[in-house]
Amino acid sequence: MSNVYEALGVPTVINAVGPSTRLSGGIMRPEVAEAMAAASQHCVDIAQLQARASQVIAEYTGAEAGYVTSGAAAGLLLGTAACVTGLDPGKMNRLPDTTGMKNEVIMARSHRNFYDHAVRSVGIKLVEVGIADRFSGAGVRDAEGWEIGAAVNERTAAVVYVSYAHTQPPLAEVIAAAHAHGVPVIVDAAGQVPPVDNLRRFIAEGADLVAFSGGKAIGGPQSSGILCGRADLITSVALQHLDLDVMPALWNPPPELIDRAQLPGAPQHGIGRPCKVGKEEIVGLLTALRLFVEEDPAVRHQRWLDKMTALVQECGTLAHATAEVVADRKRVEVPTVRLTLDEESAGLSALELVRALEEGTPSIAANPTYVQEGVVVFGPMCLRSGEESAIAARLRALLGA
Ligand SMILES: *Cc1c(COP(=O)(O)O)cnc(C)c1O
Repeated sequence: MSNVYEALGVPTVINAVGPSTRLSGGIMRPEVAEAMAAASQHCVDIAQLQARASQVIAEYTGAEAGYVTSGAAAGLLLGTAACVTGLDPGKMNRLPDTTGMKNEVIMARSHRNFYDHAVRSVGIKLVEVGIADRFSGAGVRDAEGWEIGAAVNERTAAVVYVSYAHTQPPLAEVIAAAHAHGVPVIVDAAGQVPPVDNLRRFIAEGADLVAFSGGKAIGGPQSSGILCGRADLITSVALQHLDLDVMPALWNPPPELIDRAQLPGAPQHGIGRPCKVGKEEIVGLLTALRLFVEEDPAVRHQRWLDKMTALVQECGTLAHATAEVVADRKRVEVPTVRLTLDEESAGLSALELVRALEEGTPSIAANPTYVQEGVVVFGPMCLRSGEESAIAARLRALLGA
């Protein structure tokens, strides 16, 4: 299939980073690609398709309702908008002007990241809480649940929580503090599956909305995501996302997603309209989600582990580096290969090695997160069969076998 890219004159890349957006995401399973192609051959009422997606997502997540978004970041935008406007179509129409609305969103300072641009784009004021001096090395503390509670006032629309294994304070503390004031909590769990249990975990802990990427480990279309949570918030999400170029007299949304009787009228196109989701993405995401949940996690782990083991084996003994598989299932969900470079004897730094891999033909993308420690990381999730051999051959050429 590389011929479609050949025809365009765009080189393909060996992606040993993972399903990163910059590298065009992952490799979809054939069943997902086939479902998307089949979806493209018919037309449906897109609101009815989202209503059905809501039921499927609810089943897999334990949430009241769900929605297919164009990614986790879109989920953050839509979820924030829902928390600001509720079911008021007048407020929906005015966004991102939030004058007179609940327009503050609280985040622990240590959770700030560039994806929160999606939250800020709703027109809210971000209120940062806590000093995470454990990251500067000057201390041991991070934000605490009570600090989140103390930042709540009558303008607070939501708390946004970014979930990683090391995230502090614990989600349960933040939910308790927010819910004590009736404030909803939105969890950014974009890359937090696997483990598959995390599809349910944050909802079970009481989160009001949870955003996942569809294009990361779930294996859905690159521009898809899941937002799940409270039914009233998902209704607000749908109202601010769906195409509403419709005559009010003909507007007949599926009542399980949007109950017209609850509304004074229909809003216009909402703030989420630019994050459009096609029927192909919705069907592709639902297909990928089913396959992801049905696959035995041990089998998935073994499939990834086999690729990483093969990479290390084919590297053999390198003159100026050692490669080892990191796959302790208690600590890492996705096995990787950690290549530690002897920068002095190799005559090149880890950063220069990453650059040399990228500049070769075909280009090999490796994870540069730990180059400061002289380490380059390779991941299995987006490697096509045989690509581990191509990586090993390049490493042997660059580092001496
Ligand atoms: C990947 C990621 C996102 C963005 O997800 P998309 O599905 O690409 O929109 C948001 N937040 C975090 C923490 C992420 O890792």
